[in-house]
Amino acid sequence: LSRRVPQPAGEDEIAELARTANDTLDRLEYSVSRQRQFASDASHELRTPIAGLRANLEDASMHPDDTDLQAVVHAALRDTVRLESIITDLLLLARIGTGGAAAQERIDFTDLVRTEVGRRTPPVAIRTLLQDRLTVRGVRMQLVRLLHNLLDNAERYAESVIEIAAGRVDGHLLLTITDDGVGIPEPDRERVFERFTRLDTARSRASGGTGLGLAIARDIANAHGGSLHVEDSPYGARFALRLPLAPDIL
Ligand code: ADP
Repeated sequence: LSRRVPQPAGEDEIAELARTANDTLDRLEYSVSRQRQFASDASHELRTPIAGLRANLEDASMHPDDTDLQAVVHAALRDTVRLESIITDLLLLARIGTGGAAAQERIDFTDLVRTEVGRRTPPVAIRTLLQDRLTVRGVRMQLVRLLHNLLDNAERYAESVIEIAAGRVDGHLLLTITDDGVGIPEPDRERVFERFTRLDTARSRASGGTGLGLAIARDIANAHGGSLHVEDSPYGARFALRLPLAPDIL
């Protein structure tokens, strides 16, 4: 992949063509190296709970009469559950964007947010400011999942309140979810969307998450022609989701 087209001098069409070819190769190389990194991170993440599981089962097999067996089995079960969630998330990640237009429907996003918020009983207050009838086209299950992942994180990090706002901005839907937790430092704001990234905070480590939640959320936003970013906020962390609004049906 590393061979490049020699770049001719000048600004004619051939030179332009060579530049385009080389740009494409650069992008391809970058994307292949990201895939490699992902495969290596995924193997590493899966290996840790598998090693734990194996050690626990070996332990259990050596002490068939041990009364502590329950504890060992519990630990093994915990690792199995963790393995299952990583694999489920990996499968979901692989499937996003493969459904095509057939799986899409018109969705009242305001309704969807209200329903999701209504289902929760978080330990913190949730304040909402939602414009009515924000309609998008998309795969309902995936948009619910996106919202889920953002709300789960906001609940995990918020100290006392989560604010959710949705409205129309430049023909797009703009949803912001703001919590009043530790926030995300500027240099990490893109990194948190990479697969398996966890910032080194006590809560991230204790969360038991797979480190795939935000990668999944961003992939879903992109697959719907939208975007997901961390934005400046006077306190805590603010996630901003943009989605194209569906044209009105008269
Ligand atoms: P995890 O399964 O670890 O939650 P995510 O992809 O959802 O994985 O999040 C990646 C990391 O981004 C988290 O481990 C945490 O360090 C950081 N993060 C996500 N949401 C927030 C938030 N609302 N406030 C502060 N940090 C956050």
